[in-house]
Amino acid sequence: MAGEKKYLYGPVPSRRLGRSLGVDIVPFKVCTLDCIYCQLGRTTEKTIERKDYVDIEAVLAELKGGLAKGLQADFITISGSGEPTLNSRLGELIDGIKKITDIPVAILTSGTLLTERDVREGCAKADVVLPSLDAGDEQTFQKVNRPHKDISIEKLIDGLCAFRDEFSGQIWLEVFLVEGLNTDSEQIAKIKNAIERIRPDKVQLNTAVRPTADSGVKRMKAEKLQAIAATLGEKCEVVADFSPGRRSKLVESKVGDVLEPHFAIDHKMEALLSMLKRRPCSLNDICASLDINRNEVLKYIGHFQNQGIVGSEEKDGILFFKTLS
Ligand code: SF4
Repeated sequence: MAGEKKYLYGPVPSRRLGRSLGVDIVPFKVCTLDCIYCQLGRTTEKTIERKDYVDIEAVLAELKGGLAKGLQADFITISGSGEPTLNSRLGELIDGIKKITDIPVAILTSGTLLTERDVREGCAKADVVLPSLDAGDEQTFQKVNRPHKDISIEKLIDGLCAFRDEFSGQIWLEVFLVEGLNTDSEQIAKIKNAIERIRPDKVQLNTAVRPTADSGVKRMKAEKLQAIAATLGEKCEVVADFSPGRRSKLVESKVGDVLEPHFAIDHKMEALLSMLKRRPCSLNDICASLDINRNEVLKYIGHFQNQGIVGSEEKDGILFFKTLS
């Protein structure tokens, strides 16, 4: 498809960041962790080695071109197909973005490399850093996040504390709760203790509302998440999206429609594929992100399904679409 985006995706709707224009700076799926709840599937290269993974000049050129064509977003979000702080030129990238646009920059990170001064200096150039903390002890950390062998929960917390001491911007710490794994009162008390040491500006609770790397991952009920949020204090909020999606039967009845070739359609289809490559999306997600109606989305999805490019998976009664590898 002409003009395919290589490093940018979206803007996608994000509960935490509004319209989030994603910038992908590591190959799929290079990460320091292999979280059981990852929406991208299993980690294929678990590493802590920082490298010049992608051509930063090409990323900046694509961003500049996109913005010149009218791309708009609430945040430029560095994240994507793995752990972005593994890219050794992260700081240079943010310097480059700041020269192109005033749109604030956010980084979605596991936070596991913040023990390294270079990583802290790179991240400190962003406006908002969104790290994760899903466990209060080593045993639970191993179960939920399956880290690289050189990463421990103590190192993760130490890195987050060091970053807090140096960074005057916003830290929004995500805690991803998996029913039965990191949700008992003892674990929540340990996580609370770590949060008090880290001193983030916000604590954001999430759970498995989308398909995950491991199929047995259970989402928490909304009421229980709210109760845990209350115990974690006033900075804590629930960000998991429990809004109802479209049921599979309705979708299946629409997917056979025929598409008309058209330049604008090409552009929307490209944006749709780009979104689905990064994470499974419900019909509601896609409509909100691409600002098109359900019937139009269903036509595109049907086209991709007929070609065997896109598949679907149901989770808790909501159908999610994703690209097939
Ligand atoms: S959720 Fe994030 S940190 Fe965890 S494995 Fe997936 S990409 Fe890596």
